[in-house]
Amino acid sequence: MADPAPQKILAFLTEKWGDKDCQMCGKGPWQVQDKVFQLSQFHHGNLVVGGPLIPVIPVTCTSCGNTILVNAIISGAIDPGTEEQEKKA
Ligand SMILES: [Zn+2]
Repeated sequence: MADPAPQKILAFLTEKWGDKDCQMCGKGPWQVQDKVFQLSQFHHGNLVVGGPLIPVIPVTCTSCGNTILVNAIISGAIDPGTEEQEKKA
């Protein structure tokens, strides 16, 4: 996965999230990963190549570890075209 544009992620989170504290511990602060991770469908432990993937950016509370996954395409961190190309590679 290509590195996302950190400034796009931060702008998106600032707009949607604002300055809300962590739901679990009520503290924070949040730490945004500068890499995109991916969720793949569960196949009883087997790795399925070419299956559907969901690109996500983990946002972690540095106080308690609560981690929220933000969709990398919807947040504008990566563009869907780039993701398609990388899946085929
Ligand atoms: Zn927390």
